[in-house]
Amino acid sequence: MASRTVACGSCELNWTRPAGVGEFERQAIESRPCPRCGAYTLTCPEPKPAAGRKRSAGPVRVRRPAA
Ligand SMILES: [Zn+2]
Repeated sequence: MASRTVACGSCELNWTRPAGVGEFERQAIESRPCPRCGAYTLTCPEPKPAAGRKRSAGPVRVRRPAA
């Protein structure tokens, strides 16, 4: 299992959480202030890249302006 890294966006603090951190725990981490600088900028991104998040199937149809 891949471990998650918690990073602060305000200072350069980051640490690794043990594997098995669920979505609820992740949100709990992000809702806490940074233990170092106290800013609410903690992020706990997914260890694997989120593929197929954007739905861009085919070209976008452009509507012609009614002349
Ligand atoms: Zn910080």
